[in-house]
Amino acid sequence: MIVDLHNHTPLCNHAQGEMQEYVQKAIDEGTHFFGFADHAPMDFDREYRMKFSDMQKYESDVKKVQKQYQDKITILLGYEVDYLPNHMDERVLNADVDYLIGSVHFLEGWGFDNPEFIGRWEEQNIDEIWQKYFDTIEAMAKTGYFDIVGHLDLIKIFKFMPNGDINLMASKALQAIKEADMVLELNIAGYRKDVQEAYPSPTLLKQAYKLGIPITFSSDAHKSEQVALFNEEIVKMAKEIGYTECAYFIKRQRHMIAF
Ligand SMILES: [Zn+2]
Ligand SMILES: [Zn+2]
Repeated sequence: MIVDLHNHTPLCNHAQGEMQEYVQKAIDEGTHFFGFADHAPMDFDREYRMKFSDMQKYESDVKKVQKQYQDKITILLGYEVDYLPNHMDERVLNADVDYLIGSVHFLEGWGFDNPEFIGRWEEQNIDEIWQKYFDTIEAMAKTGYFDIVGHLDLIKIFKFMPNGDINLMASKALQAIKEADMVLELNIAGYRKDVQEAYPSPTLLKQAYKLGIPITFSSDAHKSEQVALFNEEIVKMAKEIGYTECAYFIKRQRHMIAF
């Protein structure tokens, strides 16, 4: 894929490998714009993210590889930021970066995508969990803090599927994403999980297309082998639905490129 904006580094404590290995894999795959968007620091769930004191190192490390590879590929700097009310931090929201990805990994403090807490899925109504998740995505979009929506339907990660109509559940969230002028990422990490499909599903992507919401692509790689893995599937899905261009960001300005 030509653009790949969401990739991690070992600073978040749950990714492996040197930044250069990720970049080399992206070059081999023919990527033109490759972005690091590591988990931003937060005063919650601290063990799975960098510390506030790591931000400077992270940003300067990305800028170093940016220079090192400038003749071969454009490296971009971003953060994947958790949308978690009462834990948002100005140091992250105002960081001098190319873009911010807004992601929901927690519902009222429950890390629903963490296998450690999978038991909580049995204790609640699945349709209610799904609706609460999309309501949180809607609230995230309405903050106006972010450029990109991270893995729109991450809630399907363990394949606990609802009885209700997912399009209906997500419709207000998609409307808010459109109004906030955000970009949706097509994230291939879903292929590596139980659900074995992209985030978002083709059905939700069709809704986004009808609303005119732009897209971008991401590996969400936590090791270099995952860079561009399943990229053919995801590009095919986007084309079949009608998309012909995707977004990248430089200094919070959106640019579009044909793929
Ligand atoms: Zn994420
Ligand atoms: Zn991620």
